[in-house]
Amino acid sequence: MRSKKPHLSLVIPVFNEEGNLAWHYDQITSFLEKRQYPYELLYVDDGSSDNSLEIIKSICQKDSNAHYLSFSRNFGKEAALTAGLHKAKGDVVVGIDADGQYPLETLDDMLREWRSGSDIVIGVRTRNKGEEVVSRLGSKAFYLFLKMLDSNQEVISAATDFRLLDRRVVDEFNKLTERNRVTRNLIDWLGYKRAYVEFEALERHSGNATYTFNKRVKLALDGIIKHSTKPLKFIGGVGMLVSFLSVTAAILLIIEKYALGDPFNLAITGTAILALLLSFLIGIVLVCQGLLALYLENVYHETQNRPLYIVREEE
Ligand code: UDP
Ligand code: MG
Repeated sequence: MRSKKPHLSLVIPVFNEEGNLAWHYDQITSFLEKRQYPYELLYVDDGSSDNSLEIIKSICQKDSNAHYLSFSRNFGKEAALTAGLHKAKGDVVVGIDADGQYPLETLDDMLREWRSGSDIVIGVRTRNKGEEVVSRLGSKAFYLFLKMLDSNQEVISAATDFRLLDRRVVDEFNKLTERNRVTRNLIDWLGYKRAYVEFEALERHSGNATYTFNKRVKLALDGIIKHSTKPLKFIGGVGMLVSFLSVTAAILLIIEKYALGDPFNLAITGTAILALLLSFLIGIVLVCQGLLALYLENVYHETQNRPLYIVREEE
């Protein structure tokens, strides 16, 4: 039987959230105190350039349940979550954004699922207030694509980082070593008994999202490359098909023109055929090279064996 009041570790990635931290802290603590959960707050300052670290430090000073670590630069949310998971000591660990977009009440639903035996409880976003249709459709399409590439992967387009992990999941997660990581995909990969709870994302308390378009594209690419080599194989297949078709077409056209004397009056010149074929093939080769470059980059990063993050200070 699982404890009614497990020790909760809340991992809070922070990148330039000075406008949110104090407010968010009050929200969390009043929520937790009402329920009498033993807890620890783990702030991971992801190289903020504003006052965030100072605010975090003052929170940790007055609350002995709050701890922090601070990166030497911006390593990204994935690294921040990972660092938090490494440091967390609780029976259950939940990652929570510092901007107040994840409604705390959802924690009750997550803990209920955990008590009834689930090891991973995943927050599924039903609606994001103020989010554009485009980005919603975009992420839907992307997850369909991921699912196509890797059928083992449990991919739900609205699944978020807002998830509860049981101690043993965290212990296993902490054994993983890859560098370019999409935390939630790795968690999906771990398996375990999972459950889903729905929540409606709130609006940011203050400031703007710092998870920029570029960071998202990188995350998406990492997601694809980490979990499947199918794109490479697919492109290889397309390349072969195109080469085969080009050669066949060229042979047919040459026969039509030279052996049969152009009965269809196509009046095609050899240069035109060549130019067409060349540009076509060069295009294919370039696509292949681009993809190869992505894979190589990935292998390169893995073999460098750099630490995933560098902790500057810690309490
Ligand atoms: N974050 C981070 N490092 C980054 C970008 C964001 O730790 O490089 C944190 C940020 O402070 C917030 C959470 O990750 O707590 C989600 O970021 P954001 O609100 O910008 O993204 P979105 O809500 O749009 O997913
Ligand atoms: Mg946000």
